[in-house]
Amino acid sequence: MLKDAKRIVFKVGTSTLTYKTGKANIRAIKAIAEVLSDIQNSGIQVVLVTSAAISIGAVKLGLSERPKDTPGRQAAATVGQCELMFLYDKFFGEYGNITGQLLLTKRDIDDDECRQNLTNAFERLFKYNAIPIINENDSVAVDEVVYGDNDNLSAHVAKLVRADALIILSDIDGMFTANPEEDDNAVLIPVVENIDGEIENAAGKSTSHCGTGGMATKITAAKLATEAGIDTVVMNGSTPEDIYKLLEGRHVGTVFKAK
Ligand code: GLU
Repeated sequence: MLKDAKRIVFKVGTSTLTYKTGKANIRAIKAIAEVLSDIQNSGIQVVLVTSAAISIGAVKLGLSERPKDTPGRQAAATVGQCELMFLYDKFFGEYGNITGQLLLTKRDIDDDECRQNLTNAFERLFKYNAIPIINENDSVAVDEVVYGDNDNLSAHVAKLVRADALIILSDIDGMFTANPEEDDNAVLIPVVENIDGEIENAAGKSTSHCGTGGMATKITAAKLATEAGIDTVVMNGSTPEDIYKLLEGRHVGTVFKAK
């Protein structure tokens, strides 16, 4: 299915990019940068939506936990985003690729004029063969301009750049029939043709301990993307080399088929 994809949006979650300490998982970030650089080199345009700014920033500021108040999250994001981009720029740079940072709020995509400006910036980055790296602009995105989770943001970005596919790298192998941590009989669903009530129920309201998403936000994102004609995959981010299998047309994770 993804064999002919020419432009792919990848979303990586906080739990993949950080350790339980909240600090950057350098090994994971490096491995992801290596695989995505290789994919970019093969002629596929890579777009990366990254989380983990708040987590990394909070630890760096010496906070014992992820801030619960808005100013705390805003402050942590400003600090963590620097370290995150430093690492991406370093690792993608080592493989000869150029990165560009875009920090977005909901308003930037909702407003017609802002969206057009944003599209122009993306198109020029693509022309220059650079890899856009996107996060929500957590230091200013509060109240009504907030997406709140990067699964949602990644689906909007995939629509905006007219991606052929959205690949969500998570801390779980894909979508299961039940929560595999609670139910031994839970099995991976390889393909979802249609996101119906049954699928939405199976996704439940799970939340991961370090990011803001869970399976429910991934299903919402998959719904938005597939309805826009974009194939969506949820797979484990700890084995990024499995992305090659996907691009060869083999089965990995859960594939949500585009409408
Ligand atoms: N934008 C948040 C961050 O960089 C992450 C949001 C999410 O986990 O979905 O920390």
